[in-house]
Amino acid sequence: MNFEHIMIRYGEMALKKKNRNQFERRLHHNIIEKLKPYPNTHVKKTRDRMYVLLNGEPEDEVMKSLQEVFGIHSLSFAVKTDKTEELIKEAALFAFQADDTAKTFKVSAKRTDKQFPVHSQDLNQHLGGYILAHTEGVRVDVHNPDVELKVEVRHDAAYVTSKDYPGAGGLPVGTTGKSLLLLSGGIDSPVAGYLTMKRGVEIEAVHFHSPPYTSERAKQKVLDLAKAMTRYGNRVKVHVVPFTKVQQKIHREMPEGYSMTIMRRMMMRISESLANNREILSLTTGESLGQVASQTMESMHAINDVTNYPIIRPLVSMDKLDIIDLSKKIGTYDISIRPFEDCCTVFLPSAPKTRPTREKAASYEAHADFTDDLQEALRQTETIEFKSGDTINKEFEDLL
Ligand code: ATP
Ligand code: MG
Repeated sequence: MNFEHIMIRYGEMALKKKNRNQFERRLHHNIIEKLKPYPNTHVKKTRDRMYVLLNGEPEDEVMKSLQEVFGIHSLSFAVKTDKTEELIKEAALFAFQADDTAKTFKVSAKRTDKQFPVHSQDLNQHLGGYILAHTEGVRVDVHNPDVELKVEVRHDAAYVTSKDYPGAGGLPVGTTGKSLLLLSGGIDSPVAGYLTMKRGVEIEAVHFHSPPYTSERAKQKVLDLAKAMTRYGNRVKVHVVPFTKVQQKIHREMPEGYSMTIMRRMMMRISESLANNREILSLTTGESLGQVASQTMESMHAINDVTNYPIIRPLVSMDKLDIIDLSKKIGTYDISIRPFEDCCTVFLPSAPKTRPTREKAASYEAHADFTDDLQEALRQTETIEFKSGDTINKEFEDLL
């Protein structure tokens, strides 16, 4: 006998009755995309579950991939059998013995198919008895078992599952709209992107770079971050905006203490135009509160002044150490700590204002006309699309 299936449970989606069909279709689609490296797998949808038929693909790898798909609440390896009590008994014994550390168990049977002649309570007892008769040193513990064997007698077949593996939670990417992520080469913005995707949002990214002040490697780092994010979003577009001229003009013509605030305001303006042209309805940043000069309440107020787009800031209340932990977990940390400068660090003033105001920022900007520079930056923006499976550059990692 074998675990031929992985059973997929999706919790939160069941709550949203109205959108349920769309959500299920999207989840189904996302799972199929995610499992492309395992071409023999087959994804089946039943009324309120999905099953992946493994067809000989490596079960642990497929399980790990599925654990990165948003919208899945939990997963289990499953044995599927025909609906006879004898076969269900064998399946239950197999599922129990698959975990060779388990010493106690309980059986929880459920009949969706009420035609099945054995009642759930009786089935629990029969299966429990069968397992006890075929094992040694094992006992039933209904309160705190090592393994809970779940038996579901459904219309198409019976399924027996043992251990629950946690899914990534959240909602299927693509079900709640699109956001433009301001992606720097730092630790924070990829984590912000991950958390936004977790709520079902599809992400496109925008990156501002300033050659020759920022190197080709700094750009490569950001592209690699975008590739890393395809693990969760499947496809990620990156818009690379040449920002050198705008930066130089700010550096030349704006007071040093306000250069950072004004630079961020310019980024917001360009991002809003990009979003507007692409029917994207919000921006996402990796801003948190209190980390650096650009992230005071006053600074946020001054920067936010130039756009009325909703700005999603998933990290706003997170501690830096928690953000770092999450970036390690999602696989972006090692890329983020590659030592290349981004455009902000290069032009960063020695003493940026920590309490800028909207009024002053606007009055300084009125002394110079940035319209053409912003237009040109938008025109020369380069767009690259990545899909899951694109390989990440490893060659820089020995520089760490
Ligand atoms: P990160 O770790 O994401 O770089 P940070 O802690 O360095 O963030 P800031 O430098 O204040 O913080 O940047 C705040 C946010 O502004 C970033 O999280 C990102 O969303 C955006 N941002 C900064 N620099 C760039 C850039 N060169 N291109 C695109 N977005 C940027
Ligand atoms: Mg940064």
